[in-house]
Amino acid sequence: MKHSEENIIHGIAAAPGLVIAPAYLFYKEKEEISSEKILDPEEAVQNLENALAQSKKELKKIFELAVDKLGERRAAIFEAQIMILDDPILIESIKNRIRNERKLAEFIVHDEIAKYQKIMGASNEPYMKERSQDIEDIKNRIIRNLKKKKWQSRITSDVAVVSHTISPSDTVLFSRVNVKGYVTDFGGLTSHAAIVARSLNIPAVVGLHGQTSRIHEGDILVVDGFHGDVVINPTELQLQHYKSRLEILSRYDADLLELKDKPSVTKDGKEIKLMANLDLTTEIDIIMQNGASGVGLLRTEQIFEEYEVFPDEEQQYEVYKSLAEKIYPENIIIRAFDIGGDKVLPVDLHEPNPFLGWRGIRLLLDNPYLFKRQIRAVLRASVHKNIMFMLPMIASVSEIRKSKEIIEECKRELDHEQMKYDKSIKIGIMIEIPSAAVMANIFAKEVDFVSIGTNDLIQYLLAVDRGNEIVSKYYQEFHPSVVKTLGFIIREAKMGGTFVSICGEMAADPYAVPLLVGLGLDSLSVSPSAIPLLKKIIRNISFKEAEKLANECLTYPTEEEVNSCLHSFFKEKLQDQLQNIF
Ligand code: PEP
Ligand code: MG
Repeated sequence: MKHSEENIIHGIAAAPGLVIAPAYLFYKEKEEISSEKILDPEEAVQNLENALAQSKKELKKIFELAVDKLGERRAAIFEAQIMILDDPILIESIKNRIRNERKLAEFIVHDEIAKYQKIMGASNEPYMKERSQDIEDIKNRIIRNLKKKKWQSRITSDVAVVSHTISPSDTVLFSRVNVKGYVTDFGGLTSHAAIVARSLNIPAVVGLHGQTSRIHEGDILVVDGFHGDVVINPTELQLQHYKSRLEILSRYDADLLELKDKPSVTKDGKEIKLMANLDLTTEIDIIMQNGASGVGLLRTEQIFEEYEVFPDEEQQYEVYKSLAEKIYPENIIIRAFDIGGDKVLPVDLHEPNPFLGWRGIRLLLDNPYLFKRQIRAVLRASVHKNIMFMLPMIASVSEIRKSKEIIEECKRELDHEQMKYDKSIKIGIMIEIPSAAVMANIFAKEVDFVSIGTNDLIQYLLAVDRGNEIVSKYYQEFHPSVVKTLGFIIREAKMGGTFVSICGEMAADPYAVPLLVGLGLDSLSVSPSAIPLLKKIIRNISFKEAEKLANECLTYPTEEEVNSCLHSFFKEKLQDQLQNIF
């Protein structure tokens, strides 16, 4: 559908999927805050105690529901909210102010919690900004309970919820009443509500910037979470279009699932290993359902994101061991903490250029205590010999050698402590900095495997911030220099004797897959839900024709030409097999 059609509004595609459902407009009443004086502060303090207890009760219920629906990792958001209610410093200062200022508890609660929010909202970290929204949720909950109001949901089932903003707790509660889609004015891809919607498999379009005001209660909506479109009261023609897409999607899902146990080989017999990127421990089950040949990238900084301090050796060991056992006999590539860049640093450090700053291996080598704690945990978990260890952001041979020395030191310590581990554990690196690309051959001789991180490689090669919307059109995965660099890395690293994989988002782009296969990659590692589609593509092309395609792409001087060459190939060789879904 074209965006220019009048009844279509366009936002950010936050959770994939397609749904047709009536709109349910969800307003959260803004509670009026009065700064009235009170006569009996002790009664107000008692009221506060009751409101806190009630809020805790509600949140515990939401937490239990969330554990079932989302797993413990995601549910931790609500545990964190309960902890705020237990914060003695906050609660004491609210009580003291009620007694001293003799004002309504709701006013003091609002004022005190707003201080927290202000600090978090002012942060440059999108993560912290979004957490300030969670705090808004808890503030409103306490105030509502102080006023002894109840939030009554009139939702029965099968609606698309339309709102300015939705908190993670709303998302969980709505899922209980069978909400089919979300449409919001605020929010981005990384907001918790969007993450929760993705985990629950509910299509969502967010960031509509006030356009939801065009939607009325009961309007029929098409929520297209693939493209970020919301169609308001679709015409007969539009309905037909989306209904047929729904049909295709359900046939297509069933079709793809049948591939689960089939091998990932081209028509002329070249095996391309399909592995999964893992950011959430709960995803391990989806990974196995989708038929991945192991985990090609475990983003450890991501899975421990909920921890306030760095997890100790024991905590890490338990997680790595359990994941390695679940995926056995397949392999899991555990990547050392890639902290810094757009990911939160352990210390409050404001760097002018974080992506060019203290990130990945640099931070680890400067903090050997932290690095060793992770290496020891990885080694101890490697007893079944299916763990490989990968170093991020490598720019020089000396970083590889220093890291290997530290790994050897950890092995000696474990020998001394008579602890078991895989003595020949494979060590690899990410190639994601241009200097590593240029040195691919020499680096490859130092390690057992390499994995190309195109997310960063493209950003550093083209000097385009990977997260900056203003320059996103310059971030081109089919820029000729990217194609040539990939070809160079693969050739050089293979001559250096290593297995070459790719784990950036580019690997999940269906149009890029024939090119990547043709350039000679041994393996692709992508988000688990992309695996069935990629397998279908690989099984429908021959390596020979992919190689011809790659050679042709290597000759083009512009991105447009590479792009159009790949689209024509796709149309000609794959469109029919993929039931015209693209
Ligand atoms: C990459 O840079 O391509 C990559 C896979 O790592 P991350 O996205 O975690 O930086
Ligand atoms: Mg990277």
